[in-house]
Amino acid sequence: ARADVGVVGLAVMGSNLARNLARHGHTVALYNRSPEKTRALVAEHGDEGEFVPSESLEDFVASLTTPRVVISMVQAGAGTDAVVDAVADLLEPGDMVVDGGNALFGDTIRRTQALAARKLHFVGAGVSGGEEGALNGPSIMVGGSEAAYETLGPIVESIAAQVDGTPCAAHLGTDGAGHFVKMVHNGIEYADMQLIGEAYDLLRHVVGLSPAEIADVFREWNTGELDSFLIEITAEVLAHVDGATGQPFADVVLDEAGMKGTGTWTVQTALSLGTPVSGIAEAVFARALSSHRETRDAVQAAFGVSSGSATPVPDDVPGFVEAVRRALYASKIVSYAQGFDMLSAGAAEHGWDLDMGTIARIWRGGCIIRARFLDRITDAYREHPGLVSLLTAPVFHEALDGAGDAWRDVVAAAVRAGVPVPGFSAALAAFDGARRDRLPAALVQGQRDLFGAHTYRRVDREGSFHVLWGEDRREVRA
Ligand code: NDP
Repeated sequence: ARADVGVVGLAVMGSNLARNLARHGHTVALYNRSPEKTRALVAEHGDEGEFVPSESLEDFVASLTTPRVVISMVQAGAGTDAVVDAVADLLEPGDMVVDGGNALFGDTIRRTQALAARKLHFVGAGVSGGEEGALNGPSIMVGGSEAAYETLGPIVESIAAQVDGTPCAAHLGTDGAGHFVKMVHNGIEYADMQLIGEAYDLLRHVVGLSPAEIADVFREWNTGELDSFLIEITAEVLAHVDGATGQPFADVVLDEAGMKGTGTWTVQTALSLGTPVSGIAEAVFARALSSHRETRDAVQAAFGVSSGSATPVPDDVPGFVEAVRRALYASKIVSYAQGFDMLSAGAAEHGWDLDMGTIARIWRGGCIIRARFLDRITDAYREHPGLVSLLTAPVFHEALDGAGDAWRDVVAAAVRAGVPVPGFSAALAAFDGARRDRLPAALVQGQRDLFGAHTYRRVDREGSFHVLWGEDRREVRA
């Protein structure tokens, strides 16, 4: 036995993670169900470090020094269950299985309990950054026990992205905490991408800029407070010209967005926690709408096709472009605030002691939502440990205040032009909703009391009340 860490599952993520481990001086045991992938990895990259390939799980486990650390990078769901069970059968008490796949956090809680009963450590670790991140430094959100992190920490911190000399990896909480945080991260990523898409749509179809011109706008935005990986790659995609047709790449791609399901999980979980993540939900639904081709065709046939381009171009183009930038930044702040609210709600529900500043810190590198902006979130939580809402952190307060009119003007212009901005408008509605002195929720309570005797509370007295709607409409204490 000579490998200090093993990787099971050598598709793109697993093989890149194994190479990253080997490049950082680890001796890496390798196993994949189909041996071709193991052989290919050793043939193509065997010279990058120390690998110990095996073609049976028994040999793989035997090649590891104890306590063994096995990282599973296989398909989430049934594939992960199959691999975790098979590996666990061969391990000894004190050994550890790390699931680096995109597991649903509830599955991670279940697997943690099942392996704990066998005196094995199970760690759910969210790995972000796609294949490039897995190879060159991902952000790693680690759950499981403190004891497990003592062994695993140095390994994951050695391969994670580094920002300002600190690794983008941390132990965040017990059992499913790592996968929960990774799930919310993916949800925020959906919202960020949708907001950027809406900004593009506005610049293209309300202002009338070309994709190449918009690429320049995004490059410019990337030098300021919006500086982020997603803005940077947006400029790159928009500047790209299709080789076959000479058209802007953005115009030859079918406008039906795919998704693998983590955004949906985020929204489903938020619904059960009762936390509004309207920005993320609108992003998931916008992707769904885009891919419902039949509905789009039917509605276009019935009402005519709208391109948004028929609207007059704003008089002050640079002013409008700046308004879109401000609206984008304000909407982004709201969607992150919603994501962090969801993290708090999840922590309360599952007994995790999530440190929001640490989470923002390890998202600064390696992952898809990496951005300068996350420093501001870390600082906000460091300076105000009891912060109830990110919206109130002074740095964001200022940006939201500054965006006020621009944000409303942009949403109004989009609505008038028929350019859908579900992300911008949901963010604005969430902000306005939180600011309103009185919400129509009072009326909803009245309706609920009338049809279902659900009772209500009053502004002027303690207690719950009910009106005898079907009788003399007297108010009674419930
Ligand atoms: P896939 O999700 O496509 O999974 C393929 C791997 O799973 C192969 O190694 C396959 O083995 C193995 N596998 C599937 N079912 C079984 C089974 N029943 N028994 C044994 N092995 C099985 O690979 P990716 O590399 O794309 O992703 C790996 C994990 O990382 C997934 O959980 C994914 O969600 C997550 N992830 C992926 C990202 C990405 O950008 N792709 C980003 C972040 C996380 P075989 O070769 O024998 O078929």
